[in-house]
Amino acid sequence: MNGPKSKPVPPELLAMMVELLPTIGSLRDLAAITGLHLFEVRRVTAPFLAIMKLNGTHPKCGCGKLRFHPFGCSGFRGKNTPTDHLPGHTREETKRLLQQREIAIDMLVDGARFAEVDAALGMSKGSAIKYVRFMTAEQRQHREAIRPPVRSPSHCASVAA
Ligand SMILES: [Zn+2]
Repeated sequence: MNGPKSKPVPPELLAMMVELLPTIGSLRDLAAITGLHLFEVRRVTAPFLAIMKLNGTHPKCGCGKLRFHPFGCSGFRGKNTPTDHLPGHTREETKRLLQQREIAIDMLVDGARFAEVDAALGMSKGSAIKYVRFMTAEQRQHREAIRPPVRSPSHCASVAA
């Protein structure tokens, strides 16, 4: 279906891109942040932008057209300087945050405790649990197979049954 060089975009990266779509200035910025090619960014974000368009939540460009409109924006070009970092973070921080997220998800998939991930990455208590929403269903299942969630006191009894 795709060219031989096109490899699948990791689900957590896709989740992040979808999260950034409403605030990012251009798809080129998204490409710079994720390290993906622009054509790849266009390809994977297209269905989400189509849904946003249908729902009337598609972000608008400074010129009034839908944001990410083709051929650049003559009216807004000067103000819209390219960026390769997450909103509110420097380039260095962005790189570190993305690496941190990747490591955290890897550790969680491998069954690490949230406290262990917090400690390993030098994050404040309760940070690691936030990464759960970036995990795919398969990653969650993998984690739960190693470390079943212990929420209810009846857990031990139900396992024995
Ligand atoms: Zn425009």
